Amino acid sequence: MSHSDPSTQTTGQSVNLRDFQSLIHKMYYQKDLQRGIPGTFMWLMEEIGELASALQSGNDRENLEEEFADVLAWLTTIANVAQIDLAQAIHKKYGDGCPGCGLLVCTCAIEEKP
Ligand SMILES: [Zn+2]
Repeated sequence: MSHSDPSTQTTGQSVNLRDFQSLIHKMYYQKDLQRGIPGTFMWLMEEIGELASALQSGNDRENLEEEFADVLAWLTTIANVAQIDLAQAIHKKYGDGCPGCGLLVCTCAIEEKP
């Protein structure tokens, strides 16, 4: 098997989003499919709550890193069930700059949601 075969690949130090989505697919897709999007979405919300707590307390750097990783993993797992290619979606929306003002350094007013 080649080095880039997604069925055998782990993330390594430099994580590519497409490889990460493949890895999450391999690890969790069958369970995610059984749980379904609503159940999986609830876990994402729980993880977002845990991230909020970690940010609030702010004294455990390792825990904070874990919570960011968990939120991204649960978001990615839902994208798998919904059959969304995250790398493609992100490139399409953000690849050419801010979706609001079109610039690489956003100049939208701070109170606007870009
Ligand atoms: Zn902008």
